[in-house]
Amino acid sequence: MPRALITGGVGFLASHLCDRLLAEGFEVVAIDNLITGSLDNVSHLANEPRFSYENQDVIEGIAYSGELDYVFHLASPASPVDFIQVPLEIMRVNSRGTENALELARQKGARFLFTSTSEVYGDPLEHPQQEEYRGNVNTLGVRGVYDESKRYGESIVMAYRRLYNVDTKLVRIFNTFGPRMRLDDGRVVPNFMRQALTGEPITVYGAGTQTRSFCYCTDLIDGIFRLITSEQQGPINIGNPTEHTMLEFAQKIKNLVDSSSEIVFRPMLTEDDPKQRRPDITKAKTLLGWEPRVSLEEGLRETVAYFQGRLNRIA
Ligand code: UDP
Repeated sequence: MPRALITGGVGFLASHLCDRLLAEGFEVVAIDNLITGSLDNVSHLANEPRFSYENQDVIEGIAYSGELDYVFHLASPASPVDFIQVPLEIMRVNSRGTENALELARQKGARFLFTSTSEVYGDPLEHPQQEEYRGNVNTLGVRGVYDESKRYGESIVMAYRRLYNVDTKLVRIFNTFGPRMRLDDGRVVPNFMRQALTGEPITVYGAGTQTRSFCYCTDLIDGIFRLITSEQQGPINIGNPTEHTMLEFAQKIKNLVDSSSEIVFRPMLTEDDPKQRRPDITKAKTLLGWEPRVSLEEGLRETVAYFQGRLNRIA
């Protein structure tokens, strides 16, 4: 039975990766310091003998004595609100944390995957973004802590590949959503949904002309699974290429929820908020045979149901 260790293992995306790997017959070790992850995300695995969780901080090093076939490094706060609140933790987990995870993979002879991000393209001057594009990041801005540390992460992954022949994989994740996102995570999907469901104003930042494209979590995980089980090393963009302005998106969620919330305009949370973002997924399609399958509407409906459930529990 293949065994995988996942850093940030009880976070939003990692918990879906745990589900997928378990479904594929893996044994899964999740480690997390719970800075943004939550054990609620894996509570359904309580009786799964092939799943285990350990509270560890990858910044301090990873203690695992067993054999490993795969190391997935997903640990990192990833919301722009986190960029403001925990900037040093973000920088450390993507620098020291990535080195520690790589070192573990090297010692165990395990395949390694690093979750990089569309943020490495910064506020992109090329559109859509291809993997070859080197980006337009402001090192000095609020987003710099995430963007630059992920860029560093990619570089140290390449150094481990060249120096030690670690079998590494790089995925660049574009905006992804779904059940198990934090209600208070500050990102656009939880914000708009919470606001629409509770009748609060829906807060569009700026004029709402900036664009994003949203990938459903299980599609994203399918891309990661295809990459780790392929001979490709990446970087490979994984994301949904259907692009929306944030104003359109607010309207869409308002309609979906049949909400009485008004749509209001608020100042941008961070300077350098990318004006447009859409992945070119030609590589994922041709090299991995991957493309998103879940429609935005279907994904949004699943996610609304999840957030409604959480809000009911809080009430
Ligand atoms: N956004 C918004 N209202 C919100 C939260 C976010 O208009 O309440 C916008 C934000 O300015 C950005 C987009 O939605 O242009 C996506 O933001 P998110 O924080 O989800 O992630 P990002 O792609 O910026 O990392």
